[in-house]
Order: sequence, then structure tokens, then C-alpha cells
Amino acid sequence: MNELLHVYLSAWPTVWVMDTARYLVAATLMASILALFWRAGLGRRKLQPRDPVRGQRRREFLASLRTAFIFSLLGAIVAVGDHQGWITIYKNFRQAGPLYLFLSLALMLVAHDAYFYWAHRAMHHRRLFALFHRTHHLSRTPTPWAAYSFAIPEAVVHGAFVPLFLLVVPMHGLGLLAFGIVQILRNVMGHAGAEVHGAVFGPGQWLGWNNTTTHHDLHHEAGRYNYGLYFRWWDKLMGTEHPDYRRKFEAIASAATAGPTTSTSVHALTRTIMGIVAGSLFLLAADPVRADSGPAGRWMTPGAAAVVEITPCNGEPGLCGTVRWLWDSVDDRGRPRLDTQNSDTSLRTRPLVGLSILSGFARTANGGWEGRIYNPEDGQTYRATLRRMGADTLTIEGCVLFICQKQVWRSAAALAAALH
Ligand SMILES: [Zn+2]
Ligand SMILES: [Zn+2]
Repeated sequence: MNELLHVYLSAWPTVWVMDTARYLVAATLMASILALFWRAGLGRRKLQPRDPVRGQRRREFLASLRTAFIFSLLGAIVAVGDHQGWITIYKNFRQAGPLYLFLSLALMLVAHDAYFYWAHRAMHHRRLFALFHRTHHLSRTPTPWAAYSFAIPEAVVHGAFVPLFLLVVPMHGLGLLAFGIVQILRNVMGHAGAEVHGAVFGPGQWLGWNNTTTHHDLHHEAGRYNYGLYFRWWDKLMGTEHPDYRRKFEAIASAATAGPTTSTSVHALTRTIMGIVAGSLFLLAADPVRADSGPAGRWMTPGAAAVVEITPCNGEPGLCGTVRWLWDSVDDRGRPRLDTQNSDTSLRTRPLVGLSILSGFARTANGGWEGRIYNPEDGQTYRATLRRMGADTLTIEGCVLFICQKQVWRSAAALAAALH
């Protein structure tokens, strides 16, 4: 129990900073784009004649910070679930590859859209509205700051989606981060108050199955219709799309094209957002490779008994380790030492040098790497935790090569350098 609490508490600050930063960056970005391009054309795309009321942005901002806090309380449960094996956040990018990453992200967005649609419709039920959803609808002309402006019960409903989804579908951390970015960007765009989507998002156009700012703004203006988040599918299927959606989007789009500089501003806006998404994805894509190499390298066990090389596993997730060198590599008659204690008698003729002894080491929430280690001394396999301590030290806890305890392994390269 203590260990779970430790995992939860060590994961929470990071999750909280990320959830809060995601909101602050996206809402600031959208508000800045609106301010910068208002005169250049976005002003002509304003969706409602009325303006946000006094104090509205401050209320939206504070409620959103509270929501980010609640999201982080729920999000840190994901780290515990990962630690316990209830959910799978796979660590090695090569395990499933880019196609699975893309498909799992697409599935997550489609599932989130369905979850949001039905949860949102339920919260509009007269028995639930006041408790769950009234806070969000205090913003009749929403601003980007309204993205997370929810009452506490509504924040809990939305924050539960990610842990619930992960119970069913394994995701890579990169997919989860991409989901978080897409989710908040679409959210601030939906609350921009002026249509920030290009004409290709119009009904009947090639991206017309996506929601737009007009779509969600009509929901705030009318207080009903248009319950979907990313896509129009559920609203069309259930007959809850606002009857004026098509007319209003087209009117806004044509009013906008009347201005000479609008297309420049919309293109600049699209470029900025795409640039930020692409840049973030690039940084995230570069990270797992670096992160996965934590304990990778050649390590010397105590007393220079053995050298173990740790590398990404062959065709499996995580890190693996192989014996590369043994002080006692041959017995007193000069024959290579074999895996003579193995419980599987057919494996007892394997030489110890070249033997794979570490398998499936995956990163844990508290910065260690957990996996299984085979001990040729007694032919048993044990759970063990690796932890990188500085440039040339690795600690390993569990039953390892020759002793059952915590050991310090030293970088073989550091030893080689010392011998020169
Ligand atoms: Zn609503
Ligand atoms: Zn809204």
C-alpha cells in the first residue's frame, strides 16, 4: 500500500505541471492569435454579436486551473495502474511501431468523442445540469480560457476518460502526449469565439466531418444541440446538430473571405498551430529513444566477476542483458562454464558467456527499471530493479548473478579508461 502511495505521489507533480501547462500554453496561444489577427480578419469571423461579460475570463481561468488539478489527481492513477500492471503504457517505441501509435491515437480520439458526446448529453439532463454542467454554460460567449472551465463533478467525469481508456487499449507515452495536445488545441479552438477553421472544415467539404468553432459556439449560444467534441458524427446520427450550423458556418466563411487579408491571417494561424503540433511531436518522438537507453551499456559486476551488456531487447519490449565476459569463463580443465543449474535440463549445455540473463526491463514511474533476472548460480529467475546512478554506476536490487541483494555495477568503459 505504501509503495502504491509512493508511486502515486511521485507521479502526481509531473502530471499536474503537464496538465496545467498544456492548458496555459494552448489558451495563451489561442488568445494571442485572436489578439494579433483580430483586425487582420478574425474580427470578421466573430460568431456572436455580444462580448464576453466582465470578469468572465478570470472565472474561466480559475475554474480551468482547478480542472487541471483534478485531471492530475486522476491522471496520477495511471502511473499506479502502470506500476501494478492494470494498464499497459508500453515503453519501447519499437515494440509496436509508428502504425500502432497512429491507430491507437486515432482510436483514442474517436472513443473520446463518443464518451464526451454521451457524458455531455447526460449532463444536460435537467436533474444533472445544475451540479455538473452549469458552470461551463456560464460562458455564453466563450473565450479560449473556458477550455477547462468546469464544475468539480464535470471535471471528474472528463478526467476519468484517460484511465478508463487505458484499461482497454495499450498506449505508448508518445500517443498519450499527442492525445493531450490534440485535445487541448481542439478545445481552445472550439471556444475561440471567432471561427478559426478554414473553409475546408465547412459542412460538405473534405474535412467537414470535424467540428468547428461555429459548431461548439452554437452549443454555448443555444444551450443545446451540438454535443460532440471533435467530430459531427454523433450529432448527425442522433439528430442533435443545430439546424442553422451549415448556414452559419457558410455565412461566417463568406464574410471572412470578403476581407483582403483574411486568408493570410487564417493561413498564418493554421501554420502556427501545425508548427506547434509538429514541433511538439518531433520533440516527443526524439525523447523515447533517449529515455529508453537509461541503463543501456556494458556493466561490470562486483569483483569484476562478469561483464553484462544491456541493450533494447530483440523484438520484445524493454531492455535485455547478456553476459559478455566472465572472470571464470572456463573450469579448471579449460572447458567453458555451462548453465548447469538450469531447471530445464535441455538448456544445461548452454555456455554462460553469451547467456541472456536480464529480460523485459521496463521503466517504472519512479525512474527505475523493473524486469526479470536469471541467476545461473541456482537456475532461478527473479524480479529485479535497475537504477542508473550517475554516469558510470548502476544499482541492481534483487537476486543477481552471484549474490541475492543490492549490488552496484560499474561501467565497463570507466574501468577500461582506468586501465589505460
Ligand atoms: Zn453543454
Ligand atoms: Zn464549451
